[in-house]
Amino acid sequence: MIHSDWHIHSEYSYDASTTLEEIAQQARKQGLCRVGITDHANLNDEKFTDDLRRSASAVKAAQKKYPFLVLGVELTPIDKPRFDYVQKHGTKEGYIAPVLSEPFDIELAQTKEELMALGVRYAVGAAHCRVDIPHAHRLPPDLDASVKEWYRQQMWLACDERVTILGHPWYHGKSIWYEDFSVIPHSMNMDIAAALKENGKYVECNAHFFLTEQATEKFRHQYAGFLRELFEMGIPVTYGSDAHHGYEDARAKVEQYLSAAGFVDGDIAELSENSLW
Ligand SMILES: [Zn+2]
Ligand SMILES: [Zn+2]
Repeated sequence: MIHSDWHIHSEYSYDASTTLEEIAQQARKQGLCRVGITDHANLNDEKFTDDLRRSASAVKAAQKKYPFLVLGVELTPIDKPRFDYVQKHGTKEGYIAPVLSEPFDIELAQTKEELMALGVRYAVGAAHCRVDIPHAHRLPPDLDASVKEWYRQQMWLACDERVTILGHPWYHGKSIWYEDFSVIPHSMNMDIAAALKENGKYVECNAHFFLTEQATEKFRHQYAGFLRELFEMGIPVTYGSDAHHGYEDARAKVEQYLSAAGFVDGDIAELSENSLW
């Protein structure tokens, strides 16, 4: 059912260690026809910009031997005041978050022009943490505030011109809603689906939800059902292993849940040529 993988991290991500050679060899063994390398560009500082530059040049070099590799990127929403500060000072050191009555505006680390200049051909845009208020990561996880904030970011990503694939919808580092997916209001998912459809985006089936021990069986089936509902609304679903350390074949495990939700061979999409930059 899964013949391509559009979300993999290489050693050029700060949190990953797999070499492009290992990824490409494994991909060949798995029989994948296309594989997207999506290293992180989390912030507009020199470190992340340099990581992305190194990822881009290494992928371009590796493509000579492995033409099935595609250069992508993973972008995460960051708060606009911090983005602006880094833009001005080149570093986040010394940044003091302002106090605002409204949630912070959202920004992504790179412009589409900057990404295209590096040869990046698509972006996975994905929410990772709250950016609505200062220092949210220091607060205890708050279910209602998090649902609201993930919805805000995902709606924003679904409308941003840089995002090709909405990556791991409702991923949460502390898994606060991984017991029962129905804590996410269905209406929110329908709003996100409508925005994805209107803007011609893909949605990702990320292996994380089906592999992490923090997700219950019930959650996994509900989540596969959510992907199926979007698929039936006409939103193409891509697969992302989101591999960081080594590149194991997780497809059989994921396909088991996708099959139960009604997916058959041919349903999981590849990025089309005209959706690539
Ligand atoms: Zn991610
Ligand atoms: Zn990722």
